[in-house]
Amino acid sequence: MENSKYDTIIAGSGLGGLVCGYILAKNGYRVAIFEKNAQVGGCLQTFTRRGVKFDTGMHYIGSMKEGQILHQFFKYLDLLKDVRLSPLDTAGFEVISLAGQTFKYAQGVENFIDVLAREFPENREDIKRYAEKIKAIADSSPLYNLHKLNSTIFIDTEMVTMSASELIDSVTDNPKLRQALAGNLPLYAGVKDKTPVYIQALLNNFYIQSAYRIVGGSDCIANSLAKSIENFGGKIYKNAEIEELICDSEKMTKIRLASGQEYEAQSFISNIHPQVTLDKIHSPLIRKVYRDRIKSIENGISNFTVFLIFKKNMVKYLNYNYYYYEKPDAWSIENYAPQEFPQNYLYMHQANAENQEFAESAQVIAYMRYDEVKRWENTTIGQRGADYEAFKKEKAEKTVEKLNQQFPHIKDCISAYYTSSPLTYRDYTATVNGAMYGIIRDKNNPMETRISQRTKISNFFFTGQNINTHGILGVTIGAITTAAEILGKKRIVEDICKNS
Ligand SMILES: Cc1cc2nc3c(=O)[nH]c(=O)nc-3n(C[C@H](O)[C@H](O)[C@H](O)COP(=O)(O)OP(=O)(O)OC[C@H]3O[C@@H](n4cnc5c(N)ncnc54)[C@H](O)[C@@H]3O)c2cc1C
Repeated sequence: MENSKYDTIIAGSGLGGLVCGYILAKNGYRVAIFEKNAQVGGCLQTFTRRGVKFDTGMHYIGSMKEGQILHQFFKYLDLLKDVRLSPLDTAGFEVISLAGQTFKYAQGVENFIDVLAREFPENREDIKRYAEKIKAIADSSPLYNLHKLNSTIFIDTEMVTMSASELIDSVTDNPKLRQALAGNLPLYAGVKDKTPVYIQALLNNFYIQSAYRIVGGSDCIANSLAKSIENFGGKIYKNAEIEELICDSEKMTKIRLASGQEYEAQSFISNIHPQVTLDKIHSPLIRKVYRDRIKSIENGISNFTVFLIFKKNMVKYLNYNYYYYEKPDAWSIENYAPQEFPQNYLYMHQANAENQEFAESAQVIAYMRYDEVKRWENTTIGQRGADYEAFKKEKAEKTVEKLNQQFPHIKDCISAYYTSSPLTYRDYTATVNGAMYGIIRDKNNPMETRISQRTKISNFFFTGQNINTHGILGVTIGAITTAAEILGKKRIVEDICKNS
């Protein structure tokens, strides 16, 4: 079994797996990453149709100005050389259309307050209080500040026991402003009275600092990390699906692929959804209570996406994201009746250059529950049958029709479209029920709905969006905490600070 013994084996090459791989390989560990797909990256994967490249799960990122938090991490991860960015509109990078009324989020705290206060002049102090609160939450988090990263990595109790909706309600009595402040909740699949405030606050503060599209596809992040890992001596196996993670009586010892090959290591990290991972571990070292708790955590909403290709030079490029809500209650979009689909969508153009005049392509992402596609759950990609294709066509046409109401004549500019459903996400990333951001954290049960990077097996850890939180920042920080279990936090933090 030459070359089959590693220091660390990482299951899955999503962002979390790649960041862990980068950190460990950079520090001299013999790392091997096993990815079931032909492409690395998980949600960072792209696909190409008629020569147009589409992102699948990473559309825009924030805090990328020199000195801001993600810029510091990207510098450490040597990503700056490979990732080109196109700035979103500083005067309104998020445009929220709620039952016919439009609100904008601007970049920069002062700007954010000024722009929203134009719509709500009597609530200026409320908006200020909101902006200050989310900034204070982000600033107080050791996860968000490199100089604090060396302290205990955990968030204040209040941040996990207060909900995002409670924070919003606490800053203003104006029902319309409350809705406007919840206007980008599809970014974190916010659930009223459940989603802990830190998720909403970190995310909003992250984008208010600065917001950008990635030029030319989010796969540049995954490819850059993969190249660095290989340059450090790490190995990445593609088309290598892990079937089982195997333990002896004390610890994890090896993995077995679907092809039957086995690989050994000293330590193991799983970037596969924890509930799916546990199905691949049969050892009694994972006790029933732990298994039952993790398996019982609910997963969040999925989505239906229409990927649009536009006729040449017909659609002006929009450098903002457009959130549409049919009804005036943003929190209720998950509970739509199937015949009312879509009740919301997020419309985004793709960036092909730093400053472009026309859009070549766009995506329209609408919430879709897994129950809508459950009847095809035993099918595989490309083999789901004519009724599934008809279902997707109907949903796509309804989505485009809704889009056309807000952007008249857009229908005439479309030369082709493609779609994805919750089953697409389930099958490409192996997330449960195609949940966009994994498990639902619940402020009413913060400990029961938290998954730690540590497991009941001493040399086996989790990483990815179900640890800490989702998104480019949440997953990167989560991966640092996972790698720190093997390498020690001090070494990683010193290295990041040295670089920033
Ligand atoms: C529609 C959508 C839009 C999003 N937009 C943004 C955005 O604009 N900005 C942002 O910051 N975040 C965004 N996110 C969130 C972000 O993409 C994710 O939080 C993050 O990429 C998840 O990373 P992860 O490490 O958890 O791995 P995942 O991306 O879940 O990857 C897991 C990997 O494990 C592999 N795997 C699974 N099973 C096996 C197996 N048995 N053997 C081997 N490999 C296996 C999978 O193939 C996959 O490559 C979006 C997500 C979605 C779904």
